[in-house]
Amino acid sequence: MKKLFEGYQKFRQKYATGDDSVMQTLSEHGQRPEIMVISCCDSRVDPAVLLQCDPGKLFVVRNIANIIPPYEKDEKHHGTSAALEFAVRFLHIKNLIILGHSKCGGIQALLSQCNLYQNDFITNWVSLIENKNNQHTDVDGYAKKAVLQSYNHALEFPWIKQQVDTGMLTIHRWFFDIATGTISAFCDTENKYKEL
Ligand SMILES: [Zn+2]
Repeated sequence: MKKLFEGYQKFRQKYATGDDSVMQTLSEHGQRPEIMVISCCDSRVDPAVLLQCDPGKLFVVRNIANIIPPYEKDEKHHGTSAALEFAVRFLHIKNLIILGHSKCGGIQALLSQCNLYQNDFITNWVSLIENKNNQHTDVDGYAKKAVLQSYNHALEFPWIKQQVDTGMLTIHRWFFDIATGTISAFCDTENKYKEL
């Protein structure tokens, strides 16, 4: 905990000291992030750290295995979809980054076919990116495919599709390799991930 308190003091000094501090300005003028990131809860994959962004720059949703769920407009509680709606329809973000990563525990849980009764929520959540036609054993390979699946889900949301079609929103499919600290982006023309 000591390290956290030291970090907090550094944050206060850098961003929240004085009348014209970053935080004071963000409080007065509100947030206007142009980029949304969907990333995993994994402690090694913090978008603000990886991309060295100050407060107010990234609108971030983190969930197990960085999943964009299918568009399901029903009475249930859809946290990630609500965040997407707020970012796209109200903040008018210009870029949406789906950030997958290597050694993902969520993907591992999916591939190891955990029994639905072994946990309360995890298996059911990651089943959103289950690819029934293909058998995969390679965790990183599947994680890369899952990013593409989330991308397809994103385009099911009518207000996302409309923004993409009109060129107001760009969706990026990224994959972060933990060991090397490198990010690759999916390239449509070459149909593969290429290092940024
Ligand atoms: Zn993960």
